[in-house]
Amino acid sequence: MSSNNLTIDIDTHGLITDLQKLIKIPSVSARKQNLEECAKEIVEMMKRIGIKAELLYLEREQKNSTIIPPVVYGEVKSKSNPNGKTLLFYNHYDVQPEEPIDLWDFGPFEGKIDGNLIYGRGASDDKGELVTRLKAIEYFLKNRGDVPINIKFLVEGEEEIGSNNISNYLKKYKEKFEADIVIWEFGYIDQKLKPIISLGMKGLLYVELTAQGASRDVHSSLAVLIENPAWRIVKALSTMVNEKGRILIKDWYKEVKKLSNEENKVVNSEPFDEDGFKKEYGISKFINNLKGKGVKKALICEPTCNISGLYSGYSGPGAKTITPSKAMAKIDFRLVPNMDPAVQFKRLENHLKENGFEDIKITKIHGEAAGRTELNNRYVKVIQNSANEIFGDSIISISSAGTGPMFDFIDLLKAPCISIGGTYIFSRIHSPNEYARIDLLEKTTRCMIKIIDNISISSL
Ligand SMILES: [Zn+2]
Repeated sequence: MSSNNLTIDIDTHGLITDLQKLIKIPSVSARKQNLEECAKEIVEMMKRIGIKAELLYLEREQKNSTIIPPVVYGEVKSKSNPNGKTLLFYNHYDVQPEEPIDLWDFGPFEGKIDGNLIYGRGASDDKGELVTRLKAIEYFLKNRGDVPINIKFLVEGEEEIGSNNISNYLKKYKEKFEADIVIWEFGYIDQKLKPIISLGMKGLLYVELTAQGASRDVHSSLAVLIENPAWRIVKALSTMVNEKGRILIKDWYKEVKKLSNEENKVVNSEPFDEDGFKKEYGISKFINNLKGKGVKKALICEPTCNISGLYSGYSGPGAKTITPSKAMAKIDFRLVPNMDPAVQFKRLENHLKENGFEDIKITKIHGEAAGRTELNNRYVKVIQNSANEIFGDSIISISSAGTGPMFDFIDLLKAPCISIGGTYIFSRIHSPNEYARIDLLEKTTRCMIKIIDNISISSL
């Protein structure tokens, strides 16, 4: 780190108190709780910093209702460079539920500080990340009276429940959100304190399969006569994948592109602690005995067919002899670029029909495509250089194994999306005792400042 970076004088005290303020608002989207209140607090925070801010709603008549939570829009135009590049920060103000509450050492909505750690639901995901972006802008406005490029914010309230309205918001307010580059809402920092710069997210198709038998659970002596829907579901599921996890649905992989040589090189160079990972999850081997590059490739670019839930019959203690009336399976398919969730859904429907399972009802719960920014996009280097200046080193990842609405941004705004942030890899997001590391929040704020400066320099 050059001494120059140490002199980026950010407001750590304000960073902590602002984060605490946000943690104290239990904005749990799963329960539609305190969402507008949290959005309003962020608008106030932005205004105090000097960011022009407002709440956006999807439907005029929904104002003051809690049906669809508002999006916070923030904007600072560069006075010195108004026709220059525009960076859009995408974040979210909603959080996961705090349960199970008895496993927390501190109140989940207290924002308790313990040494270098600040605890609370949303400390890292995503209120901590948001505050680093806000503090970076405050730095510019306080110290330079201007931002070197145009800055925009989109802070949504439904990320933790699937971002179902984000594409509608992007469509309705397309001009407001126009940008040259989007900095994504999260970014991990690994054990060696290297930030992981991720260029993509997998897509998701979530379905429910239901098989119906008799009109009620019946005595299992009647299993000689009455078809068991649990068998129907099990048999249908068994046609969908082979032992190696390969999906057997016709044309499932048809549009999937192979990684380029350059992408392969990046995948190879990504560090991955196989033994540590196995230990963490209490497993002795990976599917198909995957090792080395195979493990990393699977995480980055393999589609999945995963049974998330399987329900039928009696599951209490001891024996109960019934033939259940209903059986259900919930399945999530992770998708990779070029797989269209609607097309894949059709293929699944056809597969069930062609294999004699037309009686099984199939319901689509959620579908979103994968999003990925090309490795050779010019902003990748700019952001990597910025991260290296602050953190000393960084890791490029072609794609995260998780899902987020990145496709909507890339597709509608035609802008590259890059993930970089300050979330320590073991910060227990979505779990009890979620925390953020204060040192990493500070570094990430400096990193955001660097990114903004470097984008303005690189586009001169
Ligand atoms: Zn989350």
